[in-house]
Amino acid sequence: MQKNNRTVELTKNLADVFYNLRSVKNIQILGGCTETGITAEKSMTIRAIPELSSIEKRERFIDFGPAVTLSQMIKIGKANMPAVLYDALESIGTEAVRNMATLGGNICSPGIKHTLWAPLLALNAQIEVRNQNETKFIPFSKFSGVPKSFVMTKIRVPFDEWGIEIFRRVGPSRLINPLSAAFVFLVETQKGIVANIRIAFAGSIVFSSQELENKIIGIKLPIARRDIDTLIQETERVYDEKFSLLQAKPILKIQFLNLLRYALEQLM
Ligand SMILES: Cc1cc2nc3c(=O)[nH]c(=O)nc-3n(C[C@H](O)[C@H](O)[C@H](O)COP(=O)(O)OP(=O)(O)OC[C@H]3O[C@@H](n4cnc5c(N)ncnc54)[C@H](O)[C@@H]3O)c2cc1C
Repeated sequence: MQKNNRTVELTKNLADVFYNLRSVKNIQILGGCTETGITAEKSMTIRAIPELSSIEKRERFIDFGPAVTLSQMIKIGKANMPAVLYDALESIGTEAVRNMATLGGNICSPGIKHTLWAPLLALNAQIEVRNQNETKFIPFSKFSGVPKSFVMTKIRVPFDEWGIEIFRRVGPSRLINPLSAAFVFLVETQKGIVANIRIAFAGSIVFSSQELENKIIGIKLPIARRDIDTLIQETERVYDEKFSLLQAKPILKIQFLNLLRYALEQLM
């Protein structure tokens, strides 16, 4: 297909994708084009490749192809995926946008981390990438883009038992701008103590801290107000350490700390 002087390749299988990646310098992979559209001289669509557009549920995880649309994900229902992922999907754009927008595009959109970033980070999702010779899984916490010559083939989301699952957004609703960020808080309790916890906040900055999570694991429930105050102070210290040089918007820190306080109060 020819559009002005730009060429869009319609790939039908992974072999085509690998061939294009090898032979065309800087070729762009297109999703639904709701975010960036076509920016490169040469690009390829991957929507017709069945393995990149499928959803497979297993006992302990669910695999989404990167070309799956947000509407297709919503359609499988909240019971078939972690609740925070479903809530995040439902909060994105309009139905028309979600019908076109893909999971791969949401993850790979440049700049500000989009709405699905915080849930995928908190859920310990993994990104499967492949080239002709190799398949590897990259933990979401280490993902900073698809490695050169590789293609994203799967997003694997584990199912874990969470007693408390909170997803919230800050900034404008159903849009992305520099004030947008998403917050996720997951807690598993066992015998009256916090057995596991994940906290993620992602937008123009990405906050997740194992150091902080380790401080909360083992706390006896109900949590005391003074423990919440101490944890908020500790979080603020970690946040300032991480982002002091980045000129992150001060409002984001206030909103994050307020959301974290609200989430911790659910353990009182
Ligand atoms: C009105 C409106 C409201 C919106 N609201 C929200 C919102 O609330 N929250 C939100 O998160 N987003 C929102 N968006 C932004 C956008 O629609 C979504 O983030 C969407 O998921 C992007 O997916 P896409 O497939 O359209 O990406 P595209 O625009 O196709 O691609 C985005 C980038 O990712 C790259 N890319 C796409 N797929 C792949 C792949 N498989 N492998 C490697 N790179 C890839 C592309 O090359 C491009 O650089 C909104 C957009 C509009 C127009």
